[in-house]
Amino acid sequence: MKPDRSDFIDEPLIHRLLAETAATPRAEIERIIDKAAAAKGLDLSEVAALIQLEDETLRARMFETALAIKQRIYGRRLVLFAPLYLSSYCINDCAYCGYHKGSDAVRKRLTMDEIRDEVKALEALGHKRLMLDMGEDPVATPIDYVLEAMKTIYETQDTKGEIRRVNVQIAATTVEDYRRLKEAGTGTYVLFQETFHRETYARMHRKGPKHNYDWHVTALDRAMQGGIDDVGTGVLYGLYDYRFEVVAQMMLVQHLEQTFGVGPHTISFPRLRAASGVDLTTFPHLVSDADFKTIVAVLRLAVPYTGMIISTREDPAFRGEIIDLGVSQMSAGSCVGVGGYKAKLDAFARGERPPEPDSTPQFHVHDDRTPDEILRHICESGYIPSYCTACYRNGRTGDRFMELAKSGRIQNTCEPNAILTFKEYLVDYASPETRAVGEKTIEKHLAEIPSAAIRRQTAKGLKAIEEGKRDIFY
Ligand code: SF4
Ligand code: SF4
Repeated sequence: MKPDRSDFIDEPLIHRLLAETAATPRAEIERIIDKAAAAKGLDLSEVAALIQLEDETLRARMFETALAIKQRIYGRRLVLFAPLYLSSYCINDCAYCGYHKGSDAVRKRLTMDEIRDEVKALEALGHKRLMLDMGEDPVATPIDYVLEAMKTIYETQDTKGEIRRVNVQIAATTVEDYRRLKEAGTGTYVLFQETFHRETYARMHRKGPKHNYDWHVTALDRAMQGGIDDVGTGVLYGLYDYRFEVVAQMMLVQHLEQTFGVGPHTISFPRLRAASGVDLTTFPHLVSDADFKTIVAVLRLAVPYTGMIISTREDPAFRGEIIDLGVSQMSAGSCVGVGGYKAKLDAFARGERPPEPDSTPQFHVHDDRTPDEILRHICESGYIPSYCTACYRNGRTGDRFMELAKSGRIQNTCEPNAILTFKEYLVDYASPETRAVGEKTIEKHLAEIPSAAIRRQTAKGLKAIEEGKRDIFY
């Protein structure tokens, strides 16, 4: 084990693989796609070949395979969550972020009372799963602040619901801090590498603790050593050549598998967006929609068992296209500034669009539909929304989860849990239009459960929810 060494990201090897596979023959590409269709993953050189694919017919075939893999493993459910930004104070100087030190962002840090108000608003929007996010500032937001915030969130209940899972995205830290986060009830710990390219990383992270590439790229090792067995990774696409980043992302995946026997629980795909004080024309590696689709599809083929997350950085129409490439989780109704959910909920109740936040957002959101509108759209697209948090609460984490995901047996729990948690949403929070569309979606997905016993049990759960029971899960 090499927790403090980042040499598993082998830059010369990445460049060599990309050069060697730049003109991969059609027959070989077809072989790679056929291999991926068995959902057994791909090796580095196969990933390097696919990420450079330009032939439209082969790309279309790759996209179809990506969707088929996602459906085979996770079914047609889409898990929903909301980010909760606790603080925009930050001592780092990341060139692409509206919160960087020295920007003129209006800073804010939520008090525990404000966190309670935000959580109640999130619960009233139907959310059950949060992603905590904040800038890095050991004075404004030390680890004790994060732990107290988590306790506050888990203790805050609305009349109809509660937050059942808190995932955490905070700066790279020590094994001891990760251990404390785990004890406080962290689900998945997420840390984006932003860019795996060392020279670009140094240029983008000009000052502050995040400047240290080695400390950052080995953070997921320390999280695992601290007992967090579900970790999430991601690249901020647009900082450096996406072909390099995707092969490097796979190197991190392989490193985690080889070192801990478990790959990442999630991979995210944030794409660089405009933000306060960030001029996109100074970034030469921005990723087009077409290339972004290739990135998502290749990673779905390469790491079939992993949850893939898309955020509100993408606009609604494009999010729809990306979902068809194998995305399994998405955020909905997000506020990407500090605070704002309570104001948003009040505005929705008055039938208005949400007001401008009173602190600067981290980046500009491209999907500002309400969760209710998003859910309706998910149903109309043939998917079923899910607020499931069952694996974490049933101890199906780390290698126990991976075993089920890799074999595709996870679907036996994903589908019933999606149906039951979506039913709770429909009964407790949905608008009449969404309820009408949603009930049809539930009927259809219930009928498609292959096992008669699971179907009967799920139908019993639906009846119990109608009668007032909540939080039924498998
Ligand atoms: Fe701070 Fe994170 Fe923004 Fe960097 S990306 S400036 S660490 S909030
Ligand atoms: Fe996620 Fe597990 Fe629920 Fe499936 S059953 S949606 S993998 S928490």
